[in-house]
Amino acid sequence: MSLLKPSSEPIVRMDLALDEKEAALEKLKQEFVDAGCPGSSTGWTNVVFGEGYADADVMFVGEGPGAEEDRLGRPFVGRSGKLLDKQIKAMGLSREKVYIANIVKTRPPGNRVPTPEEAAEAKPYLEKQIEIICPKALVCLGATSAKYLLGDMKLRITRERGVWREYRGVPLMPTFHPAYLLRQYTAENRRRVWEDLLKVVERVG
Ligand code: URA
Repeated sequence: MSLLKPSSEPIVRMDLALDEKEAALEKLKQEFVDAGCPGSSTGWTNVVFGEGYADADVMFVGEGPGAEEDRLGRPFVGRSGKLLDKQIKAMGLSREKVYIANIVKTRPPGNRVPTPEEAAEAKPYLEKQIEIICPKALVCLGATSAKYLLGDMKLRITRERGVWREYRGVPLMPTFHPAYLLRQYTAENRRRVWEDLLKVVERVG
């Protein structure tokens, strides 16, 4: 069995108030640091734990911090982040209303894809973030995020984006990573991602 296979049990819904969620996320970040930043390789500067609204309906999950994110300690603040901001706005939301996290919380050297071992080490913290926030929908940005979160290493993002999946009882929409979209900025790909995000808007209401 893949070391990334999630439990088949629905996530434990904690039903916390906003301030309790904020405090739980802060405590979790400290636990991550105290544990020596699981899932980390070498050469990174800042932990990029995640940010946004602790009571968000929509939670985005990327792959791992890039150079700009590592420099600032914040997720999606580089070129991909600028595009993600536009997508969030087009959904009628704002960065302050959603939560954004990554599979791994520190930058893999040279922006390489995190290894399955790194992802497995960091994943309990992402799972806890999901349990605390308890979003109505998860959006996996790119193949790595969807594969690692679902433990489905055969997932093909070109074929399976736009199709609802489920992560332990939480609806999960896989879509293209903004960095992929920037590289393949065709009208067709932009339409595809927009259709995926519209499904999320419709689902969360
Ligand atoms: N790409 C990601 O997957 N995550 C970030 O935070 C930035 C770029």
